[in-house]
Amino acid sequence: MPFNVKKMYINGEWVNSQDDQSREILNPATGEVIAVVAEGTVEDVKHAIHSARKAFDEGPWRSFSAQDRASLLLQISSLIDEHKEELAKLETMNNGKPLREALSDVETASDAFRYYAGLVRTSLGETFDSTIDSIVIQEPIGVCTQIVPWNFPLQMAAWKLAPCLAAGNVSVFKPAETTPLSAIRLFELMSELDIPPGVVNLVLGAGGVIGNELTSNEHVDKVSFTGGTVTGKKIMANSIETMKKVTLELGGKSSVVVFSDVNIDTTVEYALFGIFLGAGQVCSAGSRILVHEDIYQEFIGKMTAHAEQIVVGNGLDEGVEMGPVASKAHMQKVLDFIQTGEREGATLATGGKRIVEGDYGKGYFIEPTIFTNVSNNMSVVQEEIFGPVVTVQTFSSEEEAVRLANSTKYGLAGAVFTNDFSRALRVTKSMKAGTVWINKYHSVNNQLPWGGFKQSGFGRDLGKNSLLEYTETKVVNMNIHSSAVGFYKSFSDN
Ligand code: NAD
Repeated sequence: MPFNVKKMYINGEWVNSQDDQSREILNPATGEVIAVVAEGTVEDVKHAIHSARKAFDEGPWRSFSAQDRASLLLQISSLIDEHKEELAKLETMNNGKPLREALSDVETASDAFRYYAGLVRTSLGETFDSTIDSIVIQEPIGVCTQIVPWNFPLQMAAWKLAPCLAAGNVSVFKPAETTPLSAIRLFELMSELDIPPGVVNLVLGAGGVIGNELTSNEHVDKVSFTGGTVTGKKIMANSIETMKKVTLELGGKSSVVVFSDVNIDTTVEYALFGIFLGAGQVCSAGSRILVHEDIYQEFIGKMTAHAEQIVVGNGLDEGVEMGPVASKAHMQKVLDFIQTGEREGATLATGGKRIVEGDYGKGYFIEPTIFTNVSNNMSVVQEEIFGPVVTVQTFSSEEEAVRLANSTKYGLAGAVFTNDFSRALRVTKSMKAGTVWINKYHSVNNQLPWGGFKQSGFGRDLGKNSLLEYTETKVVNMNIHSSAVGFYKSFSDN
């Protein structure tokens, strides 16, 4: 075998899968095997959860102060910074995204650890001064399982691990089975630090095989999941028996509403950025564009012309603006959606095909694709495609724009483009989405809460919200004056 099998990290040790199974990891730009990793079993997951439980209940971790934990997070952040280029290259080779996007993800990951290091040093609790003095304490929850998808492998790892550890919890972390390499490297870096065994555990493997154990095991206190809505529903059902705390960051079908008073060139560029960043494999991708009918012709003409000039290629190559989709299976899913759109009667304004010329044929490249002449009930308008495919519709009034924007089962994000500030705020307030951008797209800040309305999930990653979601709230009421209850007459008679 040309590669050493990359192992899982459980209880402070690098271990193989208990049945010695492994999985080949591919570069989606070339189809080449770039690593072989352990394929975990249910027994491995039980081992990791047991180690985490022990670390939380009996280990030295509980005596780490907020300052100690903050210091660890800062060290993790520094290690990420020191290995920035290496991590970004690994991400591009495993996920396919262009290097400039991967570099930005690594910076965001490092910043997340720094942010939570700072936040945890601020006071989280509350005190009340009344006849009975009271304090409210935010305590860690305990054992958290954390499951992430393949579109932002390192960034998601940071978004999960940083607040979890900052709040004093322990983690069993699972990356997506196809993109584990940057997470493995992150754990290698973390293993250089003084983190007690069992506090951070990395398990690898297929969600369909080990996911059930991660989300139903009685020793798990909280599940934090980012991924598809269908999987999110299974996880919620799994966690009910033991009433685990659950955070679900799920799919989206986000609307970009464009009024007629905008600068068309600027808005077209944002619209392209909204859908084609990450080859459309971004949960908040602006995958349905709603344009006022007065500017539709000019807008779609420019959008199509610029989409056709997007430089598609291997993310490691200079100047590449869009990479492949992340796997062969996912490419097929996206191509099937495109076929369905055509069958349903939508018009392909541009794109629609796999790119197969020359070396492209070895990877999983799909043309930037724009559908027009769509009706609102078509699956390409309603379902999350999670690829470089966007639909463009028209509207004639603000009311219609809002109605169309809210007409999917999702509620993750959205955007409104207009120079009328009052209208921008009115539409923003009417949009059922966890994030709304005004005259921009895709900006995400570690300090701001991130999550969805409706079937895009519940709970929030990032910001103060996420730290609090990794805590239990305990109220302590104190009788500091040693006063009596005064309830039973026999006590007052004495
Ligand atoms: P997915 O749901 O198939 O997989 C996500 C993770 O869940 C993977 O690690 C997978 O192994 C695991 N998994 C699969 N089945 C499981 C099960 N039964 N139990 C437990 N874990 C299981 O999603 P995906 O295709 O990898 O990712 C794409 C989805 O993620 C899209 O829907 C996208 O919108 C969503 N996403 C959401 C956000 C957000 O912040 N809301 C961010 C990124 C991606």
